Amino acid sequence: MNKYNKKTIEDIEVGGKRVLVRCDFNVPLKDGVITSDKRIVEALPTIKYLMGKGAKVILCSHMGKPKGTVNMKYTLAPVAEKLTELLGKKVELCKDICGEDAKAKAAAMKDGDVILLENTRFDPREEKCDPEFSKELASLADIFVNDAFGAAHRAHASTAGVADYIPAVCGYLIQKEIGVMGKALADPTRPFVAILGGAKVADKLNVIDNLLGKVDTLIIGGGMAFTFLAAKGYGVGKSLLDETKIDYCRDMMDKAEKKGVKLLLPVDTAVAAGFPDPIDAPIDVKYVDSDKIPADMEGLDIGPKSAEMFGDAVKNAKTVVWNGPMGVFENPTLAKGTIAVAKALAESDAVTIVGGGDSAAACEQLGFADKITHISTGGGASLEFLEGKDLPGISCLMDK
Ligand code: AMP
Repeated sequence: MNKYNKKTIEDIEVGGKRVLVRCDFNVPLKDGVITSDKRIVEALPTIKYLMGKGAKVILCSHMGKPKGTVNMKYTLAPVAEKLTELLGKKVELCKDICGEDAKAKAAAMKDGDVILLENTRFDPREEKCDPEFSKELASLADIFVNDAFGAAHRAHASTAGVADYIPAVCGYLIQKEIGVMGKALADPTRPFVAILGGAKVADKLNVIDNLLGKVDTLIIGGGMAFTFLAAKGYGVGKSLLDETKIDYCRDMMDKAEKKGVKLLLPVDTAVAAGFPDPIDAPIDVKYVDSDKIPADMEGLDIGPKSAEMFGDAVKNAKTVVWNGPMGVFENPTLAKGTIAVAKALAESDAVTIVGGGDSAAACEQLGFADKITHISTGGGASLEFLEGKDLPGISCLMDK
């Protein structure tokens, strides 16, 4: 059975019902003002569908890390205001999560109305996935809709616990995440190429292991590549190196060979005397072959030959998954490798998937976002997805 084949809002009768929708409204704020409303805008299709069907829509989300106490620095009031503006209909914010005010407001709703509960993390029971709290949340509604992919790797009351008490389905955002990424992992159109980058190899051990069982080509760039280069016996100078993971990288190279997976590492590297400080300060770099990194220099980006080689692999692929920058992309001189990879994905006809975080931001800043098949809305969640883990916020939903 495909574990990603979950019922959606279109598979359940929602008209006239109270529907609790878990969104990811954890938006960036500066002095109480929302600096990017992207996450709210992305939640609108699900909300509008439910409104259009005459559901009573009860929205909930976490914001920041108030750690189980009521801290109005993290109130969802700015989100309620923004939703009111975007929906053209008053979205009232409840004073509590599932207390007297939320109960009264939920009871007074008419079909098509929308309310927002206060920050779910104001209650210490949320992050513990406390059954009583989950039951209280569930008692507000007849149906649970999870549309917060960014929080789906957390087993919290509002992301998974409520599904123990009322029927649970996914909204459009999660439907797309599991449709595109789930298909790529379960039944990819081949050749399937994965590109991993970022700082530390230790953060992606399980991703590498899982992907080696699925892809035709695995490309490794960024800071994590140096531990692989060291495992090949190359000197890496002052580059990021995790000596405790050299044996692991050697095992992964053996596994790749046994499975017939092509493992591509950088063949050239941008090196400098040291890490830029501040990170975007002008920096002198030279390009050297990756087996000739001088002992007193640090590798900070892939070089042009690697960028071309990685680009060629993308050109021939039918499915591409990318997670993590190829270098210190925060610095324009060291962003070239990351830009080259983003461009290769944008120009490709393959199904292209970018897994959250820095690589997603790079695609958006470069204006390539609309040329990518799917940019995941969750950094941590998409990594766990690539690790092959079950995400509690998804496995709790009803199967089709
Ligand atoms: P991650 O959070 O693991 O996705 O890593 C992202 C960070 O890795 C970015 O802040 C990059 O600056 C950093 N990074 C990428 N390549 C290198 C490198 N060669 N040396 C040091 N840091 C790097």
